Amino acid sequence: MRVVVVGGGFGGLAAAVRLAKLGHAVTVVERAPTVGGALSEVTEDGFSWDAGPTYTLLPAVVRDLFRKSGRPVERELELVPLDLVREHRFEDGSSVRVATGRAAQLAAFEELGAGLGRRWVDYVESYADDWDVLRRTYLENPWDPAAPSRLLDGREMLHKRLKKAFKDERLRLVAGHPFVAEGHELRNVPAWLGVTAYVEQRFGAWTVEGGMHRLGAALADRLATRGVTTVTGTEARDLVIREGRVTAVRTATGDLDADAVVCAIDPRGLPTLAPYVERTMPAIPPVVVHVGLSGEAPDLPHELVLHGDPMLVVRRSGDALTVHGRGRLSEDILRALARHRIDVRAQVAARVDRSPRDQVELWGSSPMGVRWQGRGTVRRRLGPRTPVAGVYAAGAHATPGAGIPFVGLSAALVAAEIGPA
Ligand SMILES: Cc1cc2nc3c(=O)[nH]c(=O)nc-3n(C[C@H](O)[C@H](O)[C@H](O)COP(=O)(O)OP(=O)(O)OC[C@H]3O[C@@H](n4cnc5c(N)ncnc54)[C@H](O)[C@@H]3O)c2cc1C
Repeated sequence: MRVVVVGGGFGGLAAAVRLAKLGHAVTVVERAPTVGGALSEVTEDGFSWDAGPTYTLLPAVVRDLFRKSGRPVERELELVPLDLVREHRFEDGSSVRVATGRAAQLAAFEELGAGLGRRWVDYVESYADDWDVLRRTYLENPWDPAAPSRLLDGREMLHKRLKKAFKDERLRLVAGHPFVAEGHELRNVPAWLGVTAYVEQRFGAWTVEGGMHRLGAALADRLATRGVTTVTGTEARDLVIREGRVTAVRTATGDLDADAVVCAIDPRGLPTLAPYVERTMPAIPPVVVHVGLSGEAPDLPHELVLHGDPMLVVRRSGDALTVHGRGRLSEDILRALARHRIDVRAQVAARVDRSPRDQVELWGSSPMGVRWQGRGTVRRRLGPRTPVAGVYAAGAHATPGAGIPFVGLSAALVAAEIGPA
């Protein structure tokens, strides 16, 4: 089959290499001059940073992708586990350093306060059964949105679950932070999503030696190895439908004929798909500032979360820092950081600012995917199938959602739906 993949971010690249290995004639159409989307590198004055992801959960998803599309990942990239996943610092001056594994987390939270270690691990383990159900019915096998699901249709939202689970506000902040960081409000996030804490504790957080952008670069190389045609600098404008089935992708420079199309962008960007997702809204990226430092960089873990308003997340790789900001940012982000006694203002040798709007313009939509708006949201996303014959959906805006592991799973689901040539 001729398959056109719209969008060359991680979702589009992962779908393209899988489908090419299954024997299809694949074309990726990407509006930017290069592929990679948020999984790319920013460079300035001799410094470099990951533009978006700096680590991933569920490394098995990346391993499976490489194995099913050619050579194993170990031949091309070094996946390394983060010993210390992140440190949280709270407004009262206390902090907790979160590592992988039950024993390490029990000890770390117990240090925060007597009995808190047990509370934390009990909370995390309460998701063990949910993880099994989600894996079987939602993440690893095509999902039937028409079938009711006790878990996915649950009424409970995460903020309620956290209130019940923890009297100590700091534990609520730790458990809620991934969703706040991705642009959601906890009262609209379904409780089952807390399963990510279980996944992180059990399987760890992993990065790629040299930066996560190398994953994007390795996939871009694999496009060539697998004979995928890559059309960059070309925006897809819509789908061409004949007799109820897709026949082409309309681009700024002409039509690309297709027997099947994978939409790996926000479907609201393609007028044919837009009506099916009109009740969704994008989750907005954070304010992002990349800084390159002269002199000695502060001794920080891979990720430091500074709770408060604004909430700041500092990610460090050597002398390169990236600061994400959420909430009340009425002053320069480095000044806000200095209030936490991390003052790098005099050391800034390079700086790149990216507002949420800059990022959405750069990548054509938000890499954070669909904003959670309560319990119906899960059914409002497309993917792996769509209501249009021959059209599939992958990427952050599709099932099962944003973040490298889930976007990788979306591509695997689409490849399984389309099947071998
Ligand atoms: C600041 C930030 C930090 C993050 N950190 C992490 C992290 O640490 N770990 C993690 O797992 N996830 C993280 N994420 C989320 C992760 O990056 C995304 O969920 C994932 O990369 C999304 O991939 P995607 O392919 O769906 O979308 P994108 O990466 O957004 O790619 C979409 C691509 O489609 C192209 N495109 C758009 N419209 C069109 C069109 N009409 N025609 C042709 N091409 C088009 C764009 O140019 C882009 O290349 C982060 C995201 C951001 C923004």
